[in-house]
Amino acid sequence: MPAPTVIAISNQKGGEGKTTTAVNLAASIAAAEHRVLLIDMDPQGNASSSVGYTKGVAEQGTYDLLMGLAGPAEVVQTTELPMLDVIPSSMDLAGAEVELVEVEQRETVLQRAMASIHEYREYEYILLDCPPSLGLLTINALVASNSVIIPMQAKYFSLEGLGALNNTIEAVREAFNPELVVEGIVFCMFDNRTNLARQVVEEVGAHFEGLVYETRIPVNIRLSESPSHGKPALLYDIESKGAQAYLQLAREVLARREGPAQEAPAQ
Ligand code: ADP
Ligand code: MG
Repeated sequence: MPAPTVIAISNQKGGEGKTTTAVNLAASIAAAEHRVLLIDMDPQGNASSSVGYTKGVAEQGTYDLLMGLAGPAEVVQTTELPMLDVIPSSMDLAGAEVELVEVEQRETVLQRAMASIHEYREYEYILLDCPPSLGLLTINALVASNSVIIPMQAKYFSLEGLGALNNTIEAVREAFNPELVVEGIVFCMFDNRTNLARQVVEEVGAHFEGLVYETRIPVNIRLSESPSHGKPALLYDIESKGAQAYLQLAREVLARREGPAQEAPAQ
């Protein structure tokens, strides 16, 4: 069976829209009939609770997988969407950042665990919700990934973190994962009415040519409400602008991966 496409959703700045993007993009790709696994790499566990696994609901999770205490059969959980599974973050994941330091080949722990997931179940996409840091959990995510999607706000301070993230991606590429690429950049909580937002989009577009998604995620209250109901936005209010934006983003991500539609040959 073909190996899954593993995508890290990463940005070391907090509050940029990583978790919202990881959860709703995973749900939207699953709604498009692709088998998806969401892995919560953030000790805060917001992605887990956004699909019904608030702290304590699942006994084992990402920590146990990373530490070799449990296999996929114990940590993979189902969600309300038949095509979407999750490995929730458990309480102790915060400790992993420290404990991994002592582990041999500490950067490739998740990459090695991916093989066991691959044997356990066939996924087309695996999305990793990264914590807001460039520590070992994020490094493990980047080493195990084919590509990175960077969610960001169109704000001045959001630009500052991009350089550091880019350097980390470059370092991971050189040391562990030469194939790693930036898959795309998505603007979240986007308000087109401000000049600054347009300037930031322009600047990022100039640095990351062709990588900024046309789909922008607007500020939408449903996106901030749905996590407390343990649902991705498309199960909470599919008509909402937020749910629709993520469905559109999934179409764009899938279309980019599958390449341009076949055109009639030029004469
Ligand atoms: P990160 O994972 O990067 O820290 P989150 O996805 O958790 O960021 O988003 C930060 C906060 O902003 C959360 O409370 C989330 O519900 C809210 N949020 C994210 N995207 C949107 C949006 N498009 N509209 C409204 N609220 C949003
Ligand atoms: Mg988050």
